[in-house]
Formats: sequence, C-alpha cells, structure tokens
Amino acid sequence: MASEMNWITCNKCFAPLYRGKRPYVITQCGHISCQNCLQQVEQPQCPQCQRGTMSLALEEPLKPRLIPYFQPLGEILEMQSKVNMFWSNQMKILMHHFTELVQKILIAWFLVVLISYNLVPISLLLYLYILLNFCIDDMF
Ligand SMILES: [Zn+2]
Ligand SMILES: [Zn+2]
Repeated sequence: MASEMNWITCNKCFAPLYRGKRPYVITQCGHISCQNCLQQVEQPQCPQCQRGTMSLALEEPLKPRLIPYFQPLGEILEMQSKVNMFWSNQMKILMHHFTELVQKILIAWFLVVLISYNLVPISLLLYLYILLNFCIDDMF
C-alpha cells in the first residue's frame, strides 16, 4: 500500500486506517470514512456531510483514478516534468521537420525560377543545391 495511505483517517470517528474497520471508502464529496461509520448512515450517504454520494473502496488494487491521490508528491511532479519534456521534444521534432520542408520548397522554387529565366548553367545549379542542403543540415 502506498506510504501516503498510512495517513488515512476516518473523517467521522478519526480512527486511523490500521485500526478502524476496513475497507475505508473515499466519497465523491472528498470525505474518508471507515466501514463502521459508513454502516451507520443510509446508503448512498456520506457519514461526514450527509450528502448523497458515491464512494470507492480504499483497498488494493486502488481504482486507477484514485491512485494520484495517494502517490507521493515527488513522484507526481517527476512524472509531470517527464510529460512536459516529452511534449516539448515532440514539438521540436515537428518544428524541425516543417522548417526543413519549407526550406527545401524555397530552394526548389528558387532553382526553378533560375532555370526558367536561363540565368545559370545547370552544373552551377546542382552545385548550389547541394551546398544549400548542407547548410540546412548544419543549422540543426
Ligand atoms: Zn469512522
Ligand atoms: Zn461528504
């Protein structure tokens, strides 16, 4: 069980998880209740605030949507920073690809213009094209 779960205490009778009647539940309204307190109210009702509510058992395996609540904060922040790095890297890869694409289109367009106006011999154009392609690779 996640170490953060050691802190769980029933919000009604304040029995800690290791001492109270399990399984403890977490309600939609954000309250925690032991089985004793839960059984003293009509279901579905929260023992703490008496609102009608759904509750999920706090026992292994935890429902996936409950896991973040009992994960150490350090782990959550680390995961978040990994996610940020992943997406920023994805953006970089895409930007690089599109920049390269645009530059290649511009070069091709430039060459077509030169050819159609008969401004330079073909051999010089090829040389220019290769040179420009090398420049693009060096830029990244
Ligand atoms: Zn209780
Ligand atoms: Zn409640």
